[in-house]
Amino acid sequence: MTDLLPTDFRAELRSWLAEHPPPTVHVAANADDTAMLREWQRTLAAARWVGVHWPVEYGGRGATLAQVAIYNEELVRAGTPPLLGRAGISLVGPTLMVHGTEAQRVQWMHRILDGTDIWCQLFSEPGAGSDLLGLSTKAVRDGDTYRVSGQKVWSSYATYADMGIALVRTDPHAKPHQGISMLAIPMNTPGIEVRPLRQITGDCEFNEVFFDNAAIPARNLIGPVNEGWSVANTTLANERGASFIWREQVLYELAMQKLLAITRSSGLARNPVARQKLAQSWIEIELFRLHNAQTLERLTRGEELGAHSSIVKLFWAGLSQRFYDQAVNLLGLNALLNDSGWLEGFLTTRANSIMGGSSEIQRNIIGERILGLPR
Ligand SMILES: Cc1cc2nc3c(=O)[nH]c(=O)nc-3n(C[C@H](O)[C@H](O)[C@H](O)COP(=O)(O)OP(=O)(O)OC[C@H]3O[C@@H](n4cnc5c(N)ncnc54)[C@H](O)[C@@H]3O)c2cc1C
Repeated sequence: MTDLLPTDFRAELRSWLAEHPPPTVHVAANADDTAMLREWQRTLAAARWVGVHWPVEYGGRGATLAQVAIYNEELVRAGTPPLLGRAGISLVGPTLMVHGTEAQRVQWMHRILDGTDIWCQLFSEPGAGSDLLGLSTKAVRDGDTYRVSGQKVWSSYATYADMGIALVRTDPHAKPHQGISMLAIPMNTPGIEVRPLRQITGDCEFNEVFFDNAAIPARNLIGPVNEGWSVANTTLANERGASFIWREQVLYELAMQKLLAITRSSGLARNPVARQKLAQSWIEIELFRLHNAQTLERLTRGEELGAHSSIVKLFWAGLSQRFYDQAVNLLGLNALLNDSGWLEGFLTTRANSIMGGSSEIQRNIIGERILGLPR
């Protein structure tokens, strides 16, 4: 498939989407919605429209970066929900490709694509977020198993996840980055308790996860024991990489069009102050598009993104919050009550400057690695 021209790829996907209407639910708020989203992923996977950037040998299409951008754009324009198994597709699969054993890849990779196994990421802890080296959940070898005890937090999708990719401390006496390992954890293991955390939006996307002497097969170790820190860097590089931005770009372009339509039809767009605000939002979304075009060009040339991905993450986090601040400001209470999308966007985007590396951390990276400022 790699030899397909982008337009062929787009046409093939577009016609497939026209024949396969997506589900109307977008959030896995309950068991029925979760089942529906799982089924949607299964349908996409059956036509090889999940993990398109994965190599063909692992069930992907070996899609180019331009095709990945097109893929996300078409999915958003068709109104499809985010994939339920996105953590597995974007984080776990790429980690297994580099660090997994053949047996692990055979066991898990295809189940990630078709949504049989939904994965969650079990990295953050109450005492370890920006600085993951502070993690203290421990795993003690006991015959063919590791006994895991401790607590994770902010674990997105853990309530319905079948598997978790976890960082655990296997050598408490080694230097912090040398005693960490990565384990694949079946979430139905006795001794694991998931407690949902209700967010300001009313959803329970993330959770606390408690481990009490949970027995995890030692064969579930991903990469060598005590070398989980370098394995995790593969995972985090994929998390902070570029894949999410194509979807976000189209989402903001569509939201901007909607905002313009509402303000035009209500007459608000004739107000000079409102016009300034609308123009400001439009300019920011255009800047985001240009940043993304530059990212795509760099990746296409085979360049590592490195600290550049911090600029994109930082800009997107600020843009998303400023866009919804402006929208809420412009539309006022009535519009908010008539269309909960604006309020939900306003509330949800508060998290964008925290997740996947906070804005302060991104500024540190930009300051030190791009501007050459002292630590
Ligand atoms: C929506 C959402 C989903 C998430 N999903 C997951 C998930 O699925 N799995 C998972 O493992 N984690 C997840 N997280 C956790 C996320 O990775 C952490 O919240 C993030 O890394 C920040 O860690 P923390 O919350 O512990 O804050 P802390 O690290 O305690 O930081 C607190 C404050 O101090 C600032 N700060 C910290 N260190 C520095 C520094 N060196 N210089 C300047 N300022 C600093 C931070 O910017 C922040 O403002 C999620 C978070 C969110 C918001």
